[in-house]
Amino acid sequence: MNMLHSIIVNQIKRFGPINLAEYMTLCLLHPEHGYYIKGTPIGRHGDFITAPEISQMFGEMLGLCLVQTWFNQGHPDPFILVELGPGRGTLMADILRAAKAVPGFLQAAQIWLVEVSDDLKGQQSKTLKDYNPHWVDKIEDLPDRPIFLVANEFFDALPMRQFHRTKDGWQERMLGLSAGELSFGLASPLPVDAMDQWPDATIGDIVETSAPAQAIAAEISGRIKDHGGVALIVDYGHFDGKGDTFQALRQHQKTDPLMFPGESDLTAHVNFASLVQSTAGIDHSAMTAQGVLLERLGITERAQTLADNLTGDPLQTHIAAHRRLTHPAEMGALFQAIALYPRGATLPPGFDLHVT
Ligand code: SAH
Repeated sequence: MNMLHSIIVNQIKRFGPINLAEYMTLCLLHPEHGYYIKGTPIGRHGDFITAPEISQMFGEMLGLCLVQTWFNQGHPDPFILVELGPGRGTLMADILRAAKAVPGFLQAAQIWLVEVSDDLKGQQSKTLKDYNPHWVDKIEDLPDRPIFLVANEFFDALPMRQFHRTKDGWQERMLGLSAGELSFGLASPLPVDAMDQWPDATIGDIVETSAPAQAIAAEISGRIKDHGGVALIVDYGHFDGKGDTFQALRQHQKTDPLMFPGESDLTAHVNFASLVQSTAGIDHSAMTAQGVLLERLGITERAQTLADNLTGDPLQTHIAAHRRLTHPAEMGALFQAIALYPRGATLPPGFDLHVT
């Protein structure tokens, strides 16, 4: 039992069951005990490892995609280069290093990081000390400029609610108490037409919805529509899939999400269809597998160049990293990407075209 566990149990005792979004918000963002607020979750010694922490090639490829898109849109100057949830700052550092080679890009870029964790802000300021970044807690506070944005493993951390289609209608998955302990249950049924986004759902189906993810996608789309730019969103997810994807990760192992509130990473798969449905007045690519995207952007050529300077263990690690990022049996197909861009603009390189 930890402090946050007692806080949540007491809250439920006083005010009744909470939904998964409320539980995720408490576990991830509680001002004192929240997972992202108090600790350093990412990396080999943390609970999970992300693509930029596996290899510099991930950020370099996304950097090339951003730079090409910036050129395709007439190289706006000034513009904001934004990352949502930058973790340790590794992805942005790799993007900036790749972009350095391109005249004009860095001079026109103002770097803005959207981050809630003071601890991670501290790490980002060290990693990015040469680039004078700015921070905001939420995307609404960004300046109004052309926006070139990346978000890797950001949307999966946003609170979501889960609904089960039962014979009685839709029932939300809740957390209550059973014999004084946290336990899952279902709320009383809502009518079947309460969830008109899933008219074809059948009994036994489970769907998940994230209001914060939808609101952020809508905000990004408004900015791209008004000022131009692009958003590259990479995450593990699906296009409008169903099922229970709520999970907890602790020290690189899946764990019971109720066991260590605030001490394990809670996530859910990102529903890319719901993100694009929240946009208006812009275009989007098709959902593209991470492995395919990175291959098209030239990761294999880059891997070969980097390999030329390596031998022994570092070479083996490098080869394994390339495989891990791109192979369909590893992160290559589990992770998917989508690009949001202005209506009628050129499709950002590497992405599949969305055909209507
Ligand atoms: N993009 C990084 C880190 C992913 S972890 C990488 O690829 O390595 C998720 C990141 O999102 C962390 O930096 C976390 O602090 C941040 N975050 C989580 N919820 C957030 C929210 N609601 N608003 C802003 N940042 C958030």
